[in-house]
Amino acid sequence: MSGLPTELKKKSDSFLTKWQVFERQRDFDGFVEFAVAVSSLTEFLTARGLSGLNQSAHTLEQKVLSLFDSWETPTMPSETLTVLNVLVGEFGVRMRAYLEGNSSAIQERRRHADAETVTEVVPNNIVWFVTHAPDQWAELARQLQYFNVQATTGSLTECLESTQQATIVLLDAQGMTLKQFVAGIRTLRGHYSASCIVGLNVATDFAPQNQALRAGCDYCFVQGTAHPQVMDRIVKLCSNEEEGAYRVLVVEDSRTASIMIRRALSEGGIESVAIEDPLQVLTSLSVFQPDLVLMDMYLPGCTGVEVTRVIRQHAEFLSTPVVYLSTETDVALQVDALRLGGDHFLTKPFNPVILNAVVNSKIERYRALRRSMVLDSLTGLLNHTASKQKLDAMMANALREESSLCVAMVDIDHFKQVNDTYGHPVGDHVIRSIAWLLKQRLRKTDAVGRYGGEEFLVILGASNGEQAWQLLNAIRIDFGQIRHAVPEKTFVCTFSCGVVEWTPGMGSEGLIEIADGLLYKAKHSGRNQVVVHSAQAQSNTGDSTPRTL
Ligand code: GH3
Ligand code: MG
Ligand code: MG
Ligand code: MG
Repeated sequence: MSGLPTELKKKSDSFLTKWQVFERQRDFDGFVEFAVAVSSLTEFLTARGLSGLNQSAHTLEQKVLSLFDSWETPTMPSETLTVLNVLVGEFGVRMRAYLEGNSSAIQERRRHADAETVTEVVPNNIVWFVTHAPDQWAELARQLQYFNVQATTGSLTECLESTQQATIVLLDAQGMTLKQFVAGIRTLRGHYSASCIVGLNVATDFAPQNQALRAGCDYCFVQGTAHPQVMDRIVKLCSNEEEGAYRVLVVEDSRTASIMIRRALSEGGIESVAIEDPLQVLTSLSVFQPDLVLMDMYLPGCTGVEVTRVIRQHAEFLSTPVVYLSTETDVALQVDALRLGGDHFLTKPFNPVILNAVVNSKIERYRALRRSMVLDSLTGLLNHTASKQKLDAMMANALREESSLCVAMVDIDHFKQVNDTYGHPVGDHVIRSIAWLLKQRLRKTDAVGRYGGEEFLVILGASNGEQAWQLLNAIRIDFGQIRHAVPEKTFVCTFSCGVVEWTPGMGSEGLIEIADGLLYKAKHSGRNQVVVHSAQAQSNTGDSTPRTL
């Protein structure tokens, strides 16, 4: 979540500038630009799960969109302008509160992201348990610290007095009347406009949940929900990852049209590249790797449908969405275009808000599809195949940049016993815990995948064996401290790990094999340890370096 406030500030500034320009001129063109900015901001807030801000932006967006149809006069009437001004003002207040609350955290987080090796953890997320029974949540709050989450238990007043912006605030309904609980949710929503507000111990009936959601609650845990389930949800909400900007390839022979399209896309925060010549399409797809193609219907020498057919001959672009943009209103042709591999049809002159909405929703689905192909569903880590591909890519990069690289294989100790004693769902929770711990503690330049059932492949960029050992060993110690909760008791788990330092000339299969061998060694030396084999150690002693603290 590290770049979020900065990115949000940029978007919010651009939105306010558009508003100021429109407020002065009150013309339709300015309104369209403002509408695109509102829509793009709402989209961004929804995607990042900033619930409070999103609710406010959404209200504004709905109002703005409803004004499109009723626009009749050359300039917007003053009464309508006043209504919009109030909504923009309300949103501005919430946005400022959020940004101010986060500005001090930005520095901290940046330091964390840039650090050479992360062995010390700066909590990335603040979580509050607002409760009459702090003892009940104390253990869960303590465990969360291993996941870069600073969790505090306290009363509603204490929570409201806090100066730091919370990622999540959980309100415990136990010991409160429904009225008090709903009022509490409303107060929290007003104070923590951008945070995720979660209800705990909410009665299972429809009415209390409905009232809580209406008052601004984002999610309700019903009475009796097991603590690991609450923990899973908190960690998941806190590991909101940033993805790169959406990318669109525009195939359009009219320069004026392509400038207008690209401007509309850029208002929506979407990167784009335009080509006029359809012959360049395959090269551009390979180089730019777009998430979507916006295709003109009539191009020099061929039609857009023909270009799409050529694109679809290439397996890697089989699922890339193609949206047609054309003056053509002939229904039969549109049906044909869709049948021949297109995903949507927009007619010119286009409404930039609709263009952005269509492009965003298509790309969102496309990225979700791609995610499901490379990510493991239990942990959200790279799956087996994607981990191996990532290793190859990172090795190629290390070779090019002449930097170091380490590969580690991590395996939970005696995991079969966990399953046999506590059942498979508890085992799954332990797998998720270690996955999230690894993900939280590694740097952006590292990668981690679920290589097998309870086995993880960790790739550390720009690290030598010693640094890798330090980092993984610190994680090992922390993992051993996490108390996994089952009814009436808690238990701990450990892991063993083998780490190998890559040297140019070594292949990925060979590296994994060595890491596996070292893991085996760690297991046979008593488990709960990290065994490293560094190039340094090899040249000095010709032996691996088993080390534990
Ligand atoms: P060691 O310390 O030698 O690694 O012992 P171990 O018991 O961890 O090793 P073993 O490889 O014998 O057992 C791994 C177990 O992991 C067996 C399998 O049932 C379990 N497992 C694999 N995938 C999953 C999963 O997705 N969920 C759960 N709950 N268990 C899984
Ligand atoms: Mg054309
Ligand atoms: Mg194991
Ligand atoms: Mg295993």
